[in-house]
Amino acid sequence: MRLSQMLFVTLRDDPADAEIPSHKLLLRAGYIRRIGSGIYAYLPLMWRVLQKVSQIVREEMNATGAQECLLPQLQPADLWKESGRWDTYTKAEGIMFSLIDRREQQLGLGPTHEEVITAIARDMIRSYRQLPQTLYQIQTKFRDEIRPRFGLMRGREFIMKDAYSFNADEASLKKTYQDMYQAYSNILRRSGLAFRAVDADSGAIGGSGSTEFMVLAEAGEDEVLYTEDGKYAANVEKAVSLPVNAEPSRFTTYEKRDTPKSETIEKVCQFLNCSPTQVVKNVLYQTVYDNGMTVLVLVSIRGDQEVNEVKLQNELTKLASNYGAKTIISLNVPNAEAQQTWTTKSLPLGYIAPDIADEYITNSKQINPQFVRLVDQTVVDLKNFVTGANETGYHVVGANWSEQFQVPDNVVDIRKARPGDRAIHNPEQTLQTARGIEVGHIFQLGTKYSQVLGATYTNEQGEEEPLVMGCYGVGVSRLAQSAVEQSYDKDGIIWPVVIAPYHAIVTIPNINDAQQVEIAQKLYTELNQAGIETLLDDRDERAGVKFKDADLIGIPYRIVTGRAIANGKVEVVERATRKSQEIAIDEVTTTLKQSITAAIEGKN
Ligand code: ATP
Ligand code: MG
Repeated sequence: MRLSQMLFVTLRDDPADAEIPSHKLLLRAGYIRRIGSGIYAYLPLMWRVLQKVSQIVREEMNATGAQECLLPQLQPADLWKESGRWDTYTKAEGIMFSLIDRREQQLGLGPTHEEVITAIARDMIRSYRQLPQTLYQIQTKFRDEIRPRFGLMRGREFIMKDAYSFNADEASLKKTYQDMYQAYSNILRRSGLAFRAVDADSGAIGGSGSTEFMVLAEAGEDEVLYTEDGKYAANVEKAVSLPVNAEPSRFTTYEKRDTPKSETIEKVCQFLNCSPTQVVKNVLYQTVYDNGMTVLVLVSIRGDQEVNEVKLQNELTKLASNYGAKTIISLNVPNAEAQQTWTTKSLPLGYIAPDIADEYITNSKQINPQFVRLVDQTVVDLKNFVTGANETGYHVVGANWSEQFQVPDNVVDIRKARPGDRAIHNPEQTLQTARGIEVGHIFQLGTKYSQVLGATYTNEQGEEEPLVMGCYGVGVSRLAQSAVEQSYDKDGIIWPVVIAPYHAIVTIPNINDAQQVEIAQKLYTELNQAGIETLLDDRDERAGVKFKDADLIGIPYRIVTGRAIANGKVEVVERATRKSQEIAIDEVTTTLKQSITAAIEGKN
């Protein structure tokens, strides 16, 4: 491609609404254009990158035996009502765009495809002889993200590869899952990215596990905790650890103490001169289930620890059926205004004990009359602890379970693991922290969808069983931008060679110099013929402008037909290292071919 003929516009200054480097660079270098909130046009350079990423994904999927297909983006609401996700997706989470067609039929724009693919499996898979099956597609997904941001990182329309597997049993699912794990590792390695596979939260579905593939970058929205020995890595949402030991309590007798103005852990510890590890902290949450039921939750956790709200949400989702509900719509710490809607009298906030009376809750059909009391593991073994006295301005000290407080029956892990905590697999290892961009997520679904949608098969014994499913997603457009986030400098993007839109750019410093032009054109043709994807900068611009643009768009090799041509040579500059060398004109193609092949195959 000749730049003089290309729709090629670069911006000198950082666009105002871009926050992270990769977003700024993709806009400035003319890869993407913002059309609306979370909606971007992929311009020709970007489209080439996306196609290269897609090709790597496709090759790795095909290598696992998965079959490519293309499913509809327009999806009938009825299917989603069958799976029970219509209301959660369109109303509660609100992530699905929905519409009504002119025959008054409700439709949604696909944010994901479990319903569609399971309906197909229900119709087409009859026997164990047809199993296992894995289908995948590479397609635009639609999600009405509440906070679209960082360009392609969190768009409302983005490209995803999603795959779904159907297996006869858990063992077969595990095999497919392992193959996908390997394929995902290959995809990221081949794309030239530094990444980590981490244990991830599987939500309330439970299942036997899920893994996220995190591209490591400061701008990542996720926090990863890992150990140096490489044996443990998890998303902070899911991470587990051993907390520091609690200090022995110095309160050997139980008493109520006057603790004025001590409504925080810090203040009460200062006042009583004790360690937060001796305190049972009680945190109030309010959750609303999908049938409108409000449930008040009291979490008891050690004073030096924090509640992991993802773990808490999972625990509460498990309890949904107790309230005739399926899932949770909201979970938060109720502010004063929210408290007013359900309290009979004002709560002794900051002084609550694990046994705060249920009488604080108003009598109402839509409100559960009792607190759900969840106790984190960290407080179960505490002796002679400090906690609230259920009275403003007072705490109790020297308290014990089974003496002043009932032994907790709802003991769960709802604690946030933190950097510095000891690892469970080896307490000598401490958790380290890193930021990551989630580019892929593989998931053992089990029978959640096949059961509700009635997708069954007949096993070898002639019995009907629900299909065991897995799902596997890669954000193709997010992955492409992550590559930039991991590799740039002050002058612009540094693409990994494999996914760069072009391998080389031939720059003519002065287009009025016939010899420069002639050699450049000859090289341009020769390089392209040799399979080196090459641009020709034949614009009527100053050399400095051309060099700047070439750096900005991040093409791996720049070939300059400048002064050296007098000696039968051209200057070849490697973008990543800025190494410059003069190479004889008739050796340029073979030299570059070698370097580019090595760069691509080195990742294979
Ligand atoms: P996130 O936690 O970032 O919201 P998710 O858990 O909703 O993502 P999945 O449903 O697992 O994502 O989708 C699979 C992949 O699609 C993700 O790993 C991510 O790479 C990509 N993805 C998800 N949402 C977006 C988005 N709004 N914009 C771009 N890519 C996305
Ligand atoms: Mg996720």
